[in-house]
Amino acid sequence: MGFYFGGARAGSSSATRTQFVLTHLKHISHRQHLSRAAHTGTMQLEGSNSWHVPAVLLALVGLLVPSSSFQHHRYEDMVRALFTVQNECPYITRIYSIGRSVEGRHLYVLEISDNPGIHEALEPEFKYVGNMHGNEVLGRELLIKLSQFLCEEYRARNPRIVRLIHDTRIHILPSMNPDGYEVAARQGPEFNGYLVGRGNAREIDLNRNFPDLNAYMYYYEKTNGPNHHLPLPDNWEHQVEPETLAVIKWMQNYNFVLSANLHGGAVVANYPFDKSKDPRIRGRTTYAATPDDKLFKELARTYSYAHSWMHHGWNCGDFFTEGITNGASWYSLSKGMQDFNYLHTNCFEITLELSCDKFPPASALRKEWLANREALVSYLEQVHHGIKGMVYDENNNPISNAEISVVGINHDVTSGVDGDYFRLLLSGTHTVTASAYGYLPFTSTITVGPAEAIQLDFYLKTAPKPNPKVKPHNNKRNLSSPKLPSKLGPR
Ligand SMILES: [Zn+2]
Repeated sequence: MGFYFGGARAGSSSATRTQFVLTHLKHISHRQHLSRAAHTGTMQLEGSNSWHVPAVLLALVGLLVPSSSFQHHRYEDMVRALFTVQNECPYITRIYSIGRSVEGRHLYVLEISDNPGIHEALEPEFKYVGNMHGNEVLGRELLIKLSQFLCEEYRARNPRIVRLIHDTRIHILPSMNPDGYEVAARQGPEFNGYLVGRGNAREIDLNRNFPDLNAYMYYYEKTNGPNHHLPLPDNWEHQVEPETLAVIKWMQNYNFVLSANLHGGAVVANYPFDKSKDPRIRGRTTYAATPDDKLFKELARTYSYAHSWMHHGWNCGDFFTEGITNGASWYSLSKGMQDFNYLHTNCFEITLELSCDKFPPASALRKEWLANREALVSYLEQVHHGIKGMVYDENNNPISNAEISVVGINHDVTSGVDGDYFRLLLSGTHTVTASAYGYLPFTSTITVGPAEAIQLDFYLKTAPKPNPKVKPHNNKRNLSSPKLPSKLGPR
């Protein structure tokens, strides 16, 4: 059981809440909790039955956070805010740029980890991306706030945050579309039109700008082709915007495991696929499930239930059961970023719609932060579920690019350059196979619980060289083939 910062799980009436606060305040150890809480607006408690208490306390303590610390950040202010975090937490942060926007603004990422700049084997990589649509600004502000919060809480030795930062490599890109933001911000919250500043400086919608891999996927499904890391079309670099190019290269350079893309204009956690199988039929909405559908639903629920009101379902005049939706069943969208993550990389991404108002006034930011804080941290913690491990050869050399397949889920993940892999899975018993070119595949059965990821390492034996004297035959049941297909799914 972790420590909760707030959000839905408190789930009690305000009268009951007050009662809880009054009762439990007496039981809190006063070591440094209260003074710190007043300072940072955060607090944590220990004890198995008190998980709902900090949530309630935080709702009150949150009132002590001055509203003045919540404001919109223009580009220069955002960069300054990120570098301030880096200055305050130099040992656990790093700032790097993944490229530049059309107008030349750097796309800065703040990395937070115990060894910034270094991938440690078995430590998963996580990313948050905000402000892809320049006029949807809440995600940008929440991610700046999250960066400050993680730094402050680390310094205050909050055990939950210390653990998270020690065990995870967190990458935060508060603005994927800084040019669009400036266009929207020049108009300000009151006058912001629905589409002003949505696209980049060339008015291209970046969430319709990724290579379309869904069509390949349906083709490969029929032909038993690859179910992961689908190849990009020739010349793709010249077919996407600079911001999209930068993000794709970023995805290729880091072995991200889990991610979320923060938007606005609705309140719902949206999971892939975004593109329905036959989007040409106008007005038709069809659920487009990934092979990891159950897992994606659970990821989306993690956010919606930890958010103060997303899980209620009724928001902004729309209703979504439990505050989650499959992208295509809402409306089909082509060339989006979350489908691309799933089809081209090891990363599982969902899209979070966080506010009815795309450009809320600064006065609303404090309330939004308190509504999202627990959800942002809880979602991040999901990167530690399922299984992970190393893939080695007989001499303990790591094997990169090995395929990890799970029976019943037609979507493999691959090991990274250090030979480590991460496979998010729901609780249950799973049959897992590691295979790599030139090696004999190896299968293990493992039971995954709801807690931390289970470590499952593989040691693959070199496949025997085929005997040149034996004539190869076309029998598909030749099991001695070193390229034994690892697909053990239903198909
Ligand atoms: Zn959007």
